[in-house]
Amino acid sequence: MSTSPISITSPSVHAVPVVFDSPHSGTWYPDDFRHKVDFALLRMAEDTHVEKLFDAAPRHGATLIAANFPRSYIDANRALLDIDNALLDSPWPGPVNPSNKTAKGIGLVWRKLDTGDDIYDRKLTVAEVMTRIKSCHAPYHTAVRDALNAAVAHYGAVWHLNCHSMPAVGGAVAEEGPGKPRADFVLGDRDGTSASPEFTEHVARILEGFGYEVKVNDPYKGVELVRAYSDPAHHRHSLQIEINRRLYMDEKTREMNAHYPALKAHIDQLVARLCAYAVAHAPGHHHAHCDHDHGHAHHHDHGHHDHDHTHDHGHKHSH
Ligand SMILES: [Zn+2]
Repeated sequence: MSTSPISITSPSVHAVPVVFDSPHSGTWYPDDFRHKVDFALLRMAEDTHVEKLFDAAPRHGATLIAANFPRSYIDANRALLDIDNALLDSPWPGPVNPSNKTAKGIGLVWRKLDTGDDIYDRKLTVAEVMTRIKSCHAPYHTAVRDALNAAVAHYGAVWHLNCHSMPAVGGAVAEEGPGKPRADFVLGDRDGTSASPEFTEHVARILEGFGYEVKVNDPYKGVELVRAYSDPAHHRHSLQIEINRRLYMDEKTREMNAHYPALKAHIDQLVARLCAYAVAHAPGHHHAHCDHDHGHAHHHDHGHHDHDHTHDHGHKHSH
């Protein structure tokens, strides 16, 4: 099977300034992964099916970006400097700035699973890590950055939802300590620094209106993808959304469970309402830039020509 590292689905209607990205739902395990840990355990790191939960996004004018590679191969939600020298057979040739995630074995390239199990029975080479950055991490970030910048160019603002799911109960290296049951949803705006409090509150109220328990920045505050491109003072809002896996999947088989359709219907509504919110709250739609570019103000040129783009531009020009 030939699989591209990333799927980018452009809006199928007039573009609105909203971008959804799902960095951890990939299920394509590259041949050069060479992990020793049991595959079923390794898959516990996946936010399986999250990209499907948000697949209404393009129908409401938003861009949907999803990683096809798994986070256990390289984590798109980590900074490039978050290098774990303990995993490498020779020191990293550039600067490193390991975070507290790396101390737990879950930096840019993970050494351990949530369970505490070692992923490898070997050290990785610097070249292996560089390949993973070049083939997966870099194009993912380029795709997210380009989509956000295109929205800002068009509307002067962007609302970015960074989409994840979390185990129902905290694992061995869980933020809040092992064995704690989690809320239905956890929103993370890095303590109000990556999105306006008003937007975070808006999303929380919508989810609570569906009957869910929502926590904010507890225990997940958001990591690199909501940090890197956000600037709420300049209308760039990035919010992490974590969905409790018991709401849609069996964590052992990783199959969707009987609750999936109900959650999916709520997420469809959430997507529609956020797209409407963005249009209503954007400072301005710059019509002058608009005559040729509706719905696909994207640059799909990442130096990779094998992305799984869904170019489905059913434009609806209403002005
Ligand atoms: Zn995730």
